[in-house]
Amino acid sequence: MSSTLFEKIINKEIPSEILYEDDISFVIKDINPQAPTHLLIIPKKVIPKLSDSTQEDQEILGHLMLVAGKVAEDLGLDETFRLVVNNGAKAGQSVFHLHIHLLSGRSLNWPPG
Ligand code: AMP
Repeated sequence: MSSTLFEKIINKEIPSEILYEDDISFVIKDINPQAPTHLLIIPKKVIPKLSDSTQEDQEILGHLMLVAGKVAEDLGLDETFRLVVNNGAKAGQSVFHLHIHLLSGRSLNWPPG
């Protein structure tokens, strides 16, 4: 099977600035930012979308949330940010390798679009 865009990034086949990395996850800047700060928190394990995850992914999923909080703190985002997971093409997902969007630096309205 061909590798996903995010596997190519972590394997350095596609250039990207990796802001954070550990055994389970990594964080990059979104190439098409929708806010002054727009990061992607990505598991190294390829889970195509959140609804494909299983009980065995519990640790990974929890880890991604903790990494989001840690990166937000390290970047001084003043505890003001939004996390988004697009699940499925109809919900706006374009890369089928699970990732959490972290958005910050502008007012974030509710309900989202
Ligand atoms: P989604 O549409 O939820 O699947 O999010 C995929 C995100 O990946 C989009 O926000 C894209 O802008 C972003 N993206 C696509 N290619 C790259 C890349 N080479 N480096 C960083 N982000 C990317």
